[in-house]
Amino acid sequence: MRCRRHVYFCAMPLTLVAALVIPGNVPIPVLDALAQKKDQAALSALCTTELAQNSKTLRFLSGGSYGEGKFGWHVFRLTEPGTGVQYAVFSTPLTCEDLGEQVFKWDGSRMTAAVPEDESLGFKVVRHDMQAFFTTSQKRASFIDQVAFERTHAGRDTFLFRLSPHYRVSSIQNERGQAVPFDQAGGVVATRAPRVGNRFSYLVRYAGVVDLYQYAGSVSSSEIILAQDYWYPTIARGAAPYSLIAHTPPGWAVIGQGARVSQRSSAKEVVTSFRMDLPTVYYSFSSGPFKHASDRIGPWTFSTWSKELSRDQLHAENILQSDVIAFYNEKYSAYPFKEWGTLLSKPYGAGALEAYSYATYGAAQQPFQDPHEPSHTWWGGILPNSYLHSQWNESFAVFSEGLFARERPLGNPSERRRAFIRDAEGLSAFNTASVAEGSPDLGPVTGALGYGKGSLVLQMLEQEIGTAKLLEAIRLWIAGHPKGDLVEWPSFEGAVNHATGKSYKWFFDQWLRQPGFPDLGIDNLKWQDGVLTGSARFNGTAYRLTLEVLLQYSDGRRELRNVVVGPGALSFSLKVPYHPVLASFDPWRRVLRRYEPDEQPVNVTSFVMGARRYNDAAHVHWLENFGSSAQKIPSLPSNLDGVFIVGSPQTTPAMRLLCKKAGFDVRGNTLTYKGATIDLRSGSAIAVVDLGQGKQCAIGLGRSKYFYETGRARLCLLDGYGRFLRGISEPKTRGYLTFSL
Ligand SMILES: [Zn+2]
Repeated sequence: MRCRRHVYFCAMPLTLVAALVIPGNVPIPVLDALAQKKDQAALSALCTTELAQNSKTLRFLSGGSYGEGKFGWHVFRLTEPGTGVQYAVFSTPLTCEDLGEQVFKWDGSRMTAAVPEDESLGFKVVRHDMQAFFTTSQKRASFIDQVAFERTHAGRDTFLFRLSPHYRVSSIQNERGQAVPFDQAGGVVATRAPRVGNRFSYLVRYAGVVDLYQYAGSVSSSEIILAQDYWYPTIARGAAPYSLIAHTPPGWAVIGQGARVSQRSSAKEVVTSFRMDLPTVYYSFSSGPFKHASDRIGPWTFSTWSKELSRDQLHAENILQSDVIAFYNEKYSAYPFKEWGTLLSKPYGAGALEAYSYATYGAAQQPFQDPHEPSHTWWGGILPNSYLHSQWNESFAVFSEGLFARERPLGNPSERRRAFIRDAEGLSAFNTASVAEGSPDLGPVTGALGYGKGSLVLQMLEQEIGTAKLLEAIRLWIAGHPKGDLVEWPSFEGAVNHATGKSYKWFFDQWLRQPGFPDLGIDNLKWQDGVLTGSARFNGTAYRLTLEVLLQYSDGRRELRNVVVGPGALSFSLKVPYHPVLASFDPWRRVLRRYEPDEQPVNVTSFVMGARRYNDAAHVHWLENFGSSAQKIPSLPSNLDGVFIVGSPQTTPAMRLLCKKAGFDVRGNTLTYKGATIDLRSGSAIAVVDLGQGKQCAIGLGRSKYFYETGRARLCLLDGYGRFLRGISEPKTRGYLTFSL
């Protein structure tokens, strides 16, 4: 495909090719043609029985977790120098954190063994010292990389390393400048180690046309981006530190990982030198004619690069992200860099990618607050993940989004904690595999397990052991981790056991090492003589659950209690001296389980989405970007049920009573709620108001500049950026798993 030495042209129909195959001599183009057709059955026939019987052997052909394989697969022959051992390499354009190329030993007629990417063959990359050169007009990048290798197990003199298949290695030289033999197929390179010595260093020269716009790296006359691209040799996706000297076009901003050591500019080029001392698996680099603003906030410098944002917006982004870094620095461990950066790049595409000292995002038009990518400095950076076995670190990154929202020091702490509990609805994708085995060859399901189920499980663990113990476990985990070693779930389990002094094997067994989620019901609930009794029913696998129960009394008083149910202990009883009128199980919906549609409490975001919106003409810019998809109505109907009214009591008389009901005291541009005051020119308030007889409307006042962080609140006050300050969130008091007594 991209490899000249390995391009085969197979014009014959496949059946004819197959008919010409002589046993013991199947040409690689036959495999290539079958790989292009993703014909798993026919390829399986070219495997040994053992390989063919393993359903995972060729599963990669169905596609990876981030769309890898969409450009199709090719097969090339790789020959180990010196030994002549042959491999069939299944190659496809790579994007990072997904499948890699697939390597099989090839005996001339059959694939006899898989050489998975995490098989290091006894070698590792210790560090890189790289120079990068770009010819933007030709979309070309070339590299000179002094790679330090280490032999970790005796026994072999040959090894494999990998990079993105659009790079061709032109030479490998040893420390004495002698040529080292190698072969390359796709992005897999086979080469030889020196016979003596366990540490050795090779100068590897490679180059290629980098043109995977919005998928992997791309180089063009408008921007260079080397994110989601293996622009450096790796072995078994091990983590390694590096230095980089980048030669980029004059006048362009340069964004690299770690610390910028030096920069000099001339009329011809900008030469920038970076040191990335934190060993990580995934490297990023960018350069382009970006606008840029830096701010010193606390002990760090924050920078944002963008082609779209205004100067004010660049500074706002720095301020928003400074709280995120400060939060993790306090809760997890010391932030290991002096700078944090936010890069907005159109060639990146949708979503974002962590780079540990900065993150690359698709081109945003507005500043935003993102606790996800910065958390990867810990989840993927300090504790590296290969992404070959599970997306454990995505579980922690999504969990961190919630933790930041719940625990950051802004606004009212207890109101904030309730507003940002995440719903934990079970999805059918969770039945496909366990979280611990969420490898990229599962395709899109990988993300459902990593970003989805794993993060919900962590929220449940926080509930089970408490936020303080969870953070203690996290800190122990980070502190005890050997720098650069790859991480999977079991080491975290060890840290939880250590921090709590108990074994949580049952928890990790049921939530991470088996697929699925509980389908829970409650039967026979009754209150008699001061005791509430009932029993849990599981449709399918029974789970051990700590269930919160909200009890409501006739005077409106509420209390929260816990019951523990599990396999072999389905019935429960709870001393409840007074007769409750309502019992709601899992009222905050934090237990991962099957949900029913009738149990979702009201919140402003979902209410407004389905509402008709009336906007007071005197305040057309209020809440402009909140619920803007709602159907607009020109005048207020007499029945306000299902209406979202944006306006002030001064100009919309109906708002007077509604604001009073919500507890909003509005005078001019000032709104006061329970002692908190916001200026409606730089802050907003939104609430769902009960109208009686089951009818509800929503009201909105003011303006937040960039976003509306409402969580699950049914009433909220937001600051000028849109960050939550105060609010009310409702537990579930009707629908599934609630009972009138
Ligand atoms: Zn992530």
